[in-house]
Amino acid sequence: MEKRTKILATLGPASHSVEVIEGLIKAGANMFRLNFSHGSHEDHLKVLNNIRTAMKNLNTTVGVLQDISGPKVRIGDLKEPFELLRGDIITFLKDEIVGYKEADKKYVVSINYPDILDKIKVGEYIYLYDGTIRARVIETEDEVKAQIENHGILSSKKGVNFPNTVIDIDVITKKDEKDIAWGVENKVDYFAISFVQNAKDMQRARNLLGDYSGKLIAKIEKFDAVENIDEIIESSDGLMVARGDLGIEVPYYDVPTIQKMLIKKANSVGMPVITATQMLLSMTQNERATRAEISDVANAVLDGTDVVMLSEESAVGVDPINVVTTMSNIIAKTEDMYNYGKQTRFEHLDEFDKIQSAVTSLADDLGADGILALTSSGKSAFKMSRYRPKTPILAFTHKKRVLNGLNAIWGVEPIAIIKESQASKMFQKMLKELDKKALLNKNGLYIATVGYPVGMPGSTNTIKILTPSEIEYYLNFSAK
Ligand code: PGA
Ligand code: MN
Repeated sequence: MEKRTKILATLGPASHSVEVIEGLIKAGANMFRLNFSHGSHEDHLKVLNNIRTAMKNLNTTVGVLQDISGPKVRIGDLKEPFELLRGDIITFLKDEIVGYKEADKKYVVSINYPDILDKIKVGEYIYLYDGTIRARVIETEDEVKAQIENHGILSSKKGVNFPNTVIDIDVITKKDEKDIAWGVENKVDYFAISFVQNAKDMQRARNLLGDYSGKLIAKIEKFDAVENIDEIIESSDGLMVARGDLGIEVPYYDVPTIQKMLIKKANSVGMPVITATQMLLSMTQNERATRAEISDVANAVLDGTDVVMLSEESAVGVDPINVVTTMSNIIAKTEDMYNYGKQTRFEHLDEFDKIQSAVTSLADDLGADGILALTSSGKSAFKMSRYRPKTPILAFTHKKRVLNGLNAIWGVEPIAIIKESQASKMFQKMLKELDKKALLNKNGLYIATVGYPVGMPGSTNTIKILTPSEIEYYLNFSAK
């Protein structure tokens, strides 16, 4: 099924075998997420090898995203679960203790990042158990005391959020450093950095990559990340609208408008954006999605997202392949009414930008079968995608790593590696590779763009229109 919006599926026990991965790719998955909140390096390596085996078996490419877990703030262990009622007082201690009930309506706990307690002010809120229990800070003298505002059961190690406090903690933990080193060693395409607060956090992550060319995705899931979005965009290669944690950090009714704002900003600078969490959540258990979930996927597509993500649905759900099939169907149908050919005036990234814009509108105007794009860093494919052409962008690169990474870009289909440096040979190789994959329409029309001569600084400078007679000519071309 033809679709332009990409699917990122989280792998887990329900989906990490070669067979299921192949099924997911056939159903429309373009990228896989390895979630480093769970599992050992050994487990993840097995899954990564399974992805690579599936790629070979199907003679295709997919992208791999390593999700770095980051500093999840949690309460410590509790002697027993607390049944918290409105009006109860909960005290947060800096010392590491096992939480206990001190007296009637009074409870004591510790948290794993005690320094945060120094930054809290009276009147701010602390959320417990992934946002389900709300407490208002009433005292910060020696210890932080907060009053519970709604009923809930709290058990050991539950997540804590501070939606009004700039907590300014290191988003790269010791564990994250080791995990990123694993990703560099095993050459993942994308690293997703959790709980990013500002540009500095992304720069720290970037430093850990050394000279490895992996791409960095900033997960926007904290209120201060939303406030600092412009500097974060400057220092990232992509964004994730991480609605799970974001929905706790900001008022729930702000999530849809933040989603649209983030997508718009990412689109305008030509970086990929992933919309994540609860997209088809009920399919973790059920065969069919709810109407609201179906609309959520469709609306993210219409907002302009590059990628839609599956979490539990594909990692631990009853039928991951069915979930990806459902998502593909929703995307394909929704794209029938997509607002293609956005020729809005983006901020131009450089002087060559007009060329990408002209190529995409030329291809759409001529009703071409594809834009054959040779892109050495991937940048010109990104820039073409930004205009959202109806014509598929069939991408070729010099490096395998770049090719895999293009799976995150709306409308771009990574096809093959090209080593040729002579223009006629390049056109020939592109057409032959398409033909090999049974994607070539010999009676069709293609717009090919290359930078020629190879190695010249700059960007695409050659636009070639390939009609059926030229397609035939290049397929049979032989250099004298
Ligand atoms: P997570 O990130 O699944 O790693 O928490 C996504 C989100 O918070 O939405
Ligand atoms: Mn999250």
